[in-house]
Amino acid sequence: MEKATVGERKLLDRKGRVAKKLRISVTDRCNFACLFCMPDKDKVSWIPQEEILSFEEVERIAGVVASLGIEKIRVTGGEPLLRRDLERLVKSLVQIQGIRSVDMTTNGWYLEQKAKPLRDAGLRGVTVSLHSLRADRFTKISGVDALPRVLRGIDRALGEGLSPVKINSVAIRGFNDDELLELVEYARERRIAIRFIEFMPLDGLGIWSHDRVVSGKEIVDRVSAKYPMVPRGRGSAETSALWEFEDGKGSIGLITPMSEPFCDDCDRIRLTADGKLLSCLFDTEYHDLRSTVRNGASDEELAKNILAAVWKKPDGVGYMPWINDGWAKPRNMNAIGG
Ligand code: SAM
Ligand code: SF4
Repeated sequence: MEKATVGERKLLDRKGRVAKKLRISVTDRCNFACLFCMPDKDKVSWIPQEEILSFEEVERIAGVVASLGIEKIRVTGGEPLLRRDLERLVKSLVQIQGIRSVDMTTNGWYLEQKAKPLRDAGLRGVTVSLHSLRADRFTKISGVDALPRVLRGIDRALGEGLSPVKINSVAIRGFNDDELLELVEYARERRIAIRFIEFMPLDGLGIWSHDRVVSGKEIVDRVSAKYPMVPRGRGSAETSALWEFEDGKGSIGLITPMSEPFCDDCDRIRLTADGKLLSCLFDTEYHDLRSTVRNGASDEELAKNILAAVWKKPDGVGYMPWINDGWAKPRNMNAIGG
């Protein structure tokens, strides 16, 4: 971990962690309704349009955080490609001094048409969420009959040279945990890295329970029974622990916030679509940067607000006395960005 030096212009928290990556959610809206993410259709209330940051406001905040040491940006949502002309934002983000890469996480619905413009704009890689390869089950999980189109989107992203192209799969007991090997085989055939994410209690329907979480260890046991793997560990500040196939056909990643939290070297912060800075996925305190920006603050004032917010970053989910009656979910995943 980097040494904490108060007064240095970097995004330091009181635990000594330094933020280097920013996830920008550009919308809370989505054309899918994944049952581990969205609330019920009747209960969903979108952030009002006027509260959503404009591209110019996002660029300004990104510029300030880059001057404070952020090096990598991931654009997410809701479904980020619902924002019209998203490539325009990507193009300006990649030009910010200090930003080394801009990637995106998407449900893949618009990827077939957007992969090229996004690559031309400078997007580096794309992570596509894919939780089932069975059409009927995909529809059941996401609410949309979209599997063939998402698969075409992945192929197009590969064809256009976006790199890395990765797959995110949320493994949920009783929904798709009998399909782990199929998903792994799909990724192996294409040499795509697949990452299994443990189900987090940030779902809008409230179906999360400990029993539904398929742990990283269980996934490793099940996959390695057919495809032996070698542990390669989790790189510093990375979210996923890597397991490489012994036969050389790629790797899988395990993202284990529930069973083995990785908060101690977390270097991520998040900006929500309505301009709140979230220093932790599980934080319940939001720092309102939108008002700061819209009230005419200087870059210096904005920087001070951001530094103060990051300083208060909670220790992390690994240190939270939860899940108990006192723990209130900050927002549903679609409004955080994953
Ligand atoms: N719509 C895009 C997508 O689905 O990739 C981007 C936003 S989505 C909120 C970001 C990531 O969070 C996705 O990979 C999604 O599978 C994951 N996710 C959503 N709800 C989750 C939950 N309750 N637990 C774990 N991961 C979740
Ligand atoms: Fe939409 Fe992504 Fe949430 Fe699914 S996980 S509902 S695609 S935001």
